[in-house]
Amino acid sequence: MQKNLKIAIQIKGRLNDDSLMLIRESGIDLSIGKRKLAASSKNFPLEALFLRDDDIPRTVADGVADAGIVGENEVLEKNENVIIAKRLGFSKCRLSLAVPKSDEYRGLSFFEGKKIATSYPKILRKFLDEKKINADIHVITGSVEIAPGIGLADAIFDIVSSGSTLISNRLKEVETVINSEAVLIKHPGLSKDKQKILNELIFRIESVQRAQGKKYILLNTPDEKIEDVAALLPGMKSPTVMPLAEKGWSSVHSVIDENDFWEIIGKLKKAGAEGILVVPIEKMIF
Ligand code: ATP
Ligand code: MG
Repeated sequence: MQKNLKIAIQIKGRLNDDSLMLIRESGIDLSIGKRKLAASSKNFPLEALFLRDDDIPRTVADGVADAGIVGENEVLEKNENVIIAKRLGFSKCRLSLAVPKSDEYRGLSFFEGKKIATSYPKILRKFLDEKKINADIHVITGSVEIAPGIGLADAIFDIVSSGSTLISNRLKEVETVINSEAVLIKHPGLSKDKQKILNELIFRIESVQRAQGKKYILLNTPDEKIEDVAALLPGMKSPTVMPLAEKGWSSVHSVIDENDFWEIIGKLKKAGAEGILVVPIEKMIF
């Protein structure tokens, strides 16, 4: 009997929705129990365990879970023995140093002898040691951004994405230390069977992600314009061309990048394309 791959997922928070969506879009149905602590699948050998994100690297390192989805920032901070199997591209953020807006900032020496509040002491310590800065690290687990305002610290080291939290707390970002995104981590000694399941999961995730931002385009064109139209469509290999029932006309199909969409549409019309249809793509497999 084949064993299930156990994957740890954040129970609630910023990673929960996107992690579950990725699994669903990979064609895996999860039936989540009432207490939402675990879930199993009937159509794929996978079980999900729901945990706080802080606990995910340890759980995977211990082998209680075989894999997990967590922010790279947590993986680096916890420094457990896990392997990053796939970068997932969502929950992008950075860990940065920020100081009160009114302070003059000329460089890292600002932090010499200062008190820095953070939930990421290991990453910060390593950075400060590398830069030979002596600073006092004050660990707090939540609402780090209010620390300078209430006199608890001179500066903070925390997650930044848009920067609006910093602005509303009268802080300015002065140094980016690491960039982070959600990653799929795995236990270093997975059995062959489990590695096989993980490979299948990664294959599915890649197919879903490849399709993101891509559209399928269908259009009609007079035969003598096929070459001009095809030149505008990069496609996966080359566009599919099929004759229409009406003589002298063909249908051309291809894949385009959503970002190029409006620019290409204008050019296609000019080149002689008609009846242009653009439809979403669910998965792309090479
Ligand atoms: P938990 O209760 O599980 O410990 P948490 O409060 O530590 O949750 P969340 O705020 O849910 O964590 O964030 C989870 C992860 O999402 C972070 O570790 C980080 O990788 C990423 N993240 C956090 N804030 C942002 C943001 N503003 N934009 C994008 N990604 C973010
Ligand atoms: Mg956490």
